[in-house]
Amino acid sequence: MKKFKLFAILSILTLLIAACGTDKDDTANESGSEGKVYRVGIDTTYPPFEFEKDGEYTGIDIDIINAIAEDQGFEIELKPMDFGGIIPSLQAGQLEVAIAGMSITEDRKKVVDFSDPYFDAGLSLVVANDTDDIEKIEDLAGKRVAVKNGTTGATFAQEQEKEHGFDRLVQFNDSPAMFQEVSNGNAQALIEDYPVIAYAIAQNDLGLKVVGERLTGAQYGIAVLKGQNDELLEKINAGLANLRESGKYDEILNKYLAE
Ligand code: GLN
Repeated sequence: MKKFKLFAILSILTLLIAACGTDKDDTANESGSEGKVYRVGIDTTYPPFEFEKDGEYTGIDIDIINAIAEDQGFEIELKPMDFGGIIPSLQAGQLEVAIAGMSITEDRKKVVDFSDPYFDAGLSLVVANDTDDIEKIEDLAGKRVAVKNGTTGATFAQEQEKEHGFDRLVQFNDSPAMFQEVSNGNAQALIEDYPVIAYAIAQNDLGLKVVGERLTGAQYGIAVLKGQNDELLEKINAGLANLRESGKYDEILNKYLAE
């Protein structure tokens, strides 16, 4: 009798523990994506790739990752954060995936694996409409330059700063704050991805203009933590290829970039 009771209690406990386990820990790290929910880091201040509209996350990246997940039969949960926090969050195991207008770089490849490229971008120099003495990086000597924390724009500016003697670099956590700094004259220039600043200028009266040639070329990729999510990365690439083939990829781009 006693033995039976103990057995019953143990069985119930085991069931309870198992239930809790599946309940709250349905995110994935290990291979095998059946029924897993992958946490996807996004930067929701980055139109036309990622932004919030009527309380929903939307944009090219959001549509692409949703379409890939649907095509490949996995679930995702979007996790908005400052761009600078995304790679650290992947490394800390708080995310499995990142899509954030993230440029594929050799430096980042040391800690993440990238999908096949899905968009061509690159950096541009941006100034206020009434600025007429800045057209290239050399003209930034003695000027205040705004950049966004953790971005390729920030890295590029840090490298150039040494050579060209800026007054100083000012760092922001999101692009709108960086745009504002130049709009209101606190900084004389900023560096941003061309498609993002071109879209922002077309959409809003920011009082900003792009000057000179494109500073760098770059391609966006979807990131997973290096060496940890090979199966997931394969699915992402397969999904991406399917979207391109079916015309869905062009449809998404047109939705945000046409006109
Ligand atoms: N493409 C740039 C980078 O990878 C900026 C990305 C962003 O600000 N979301 O650093």
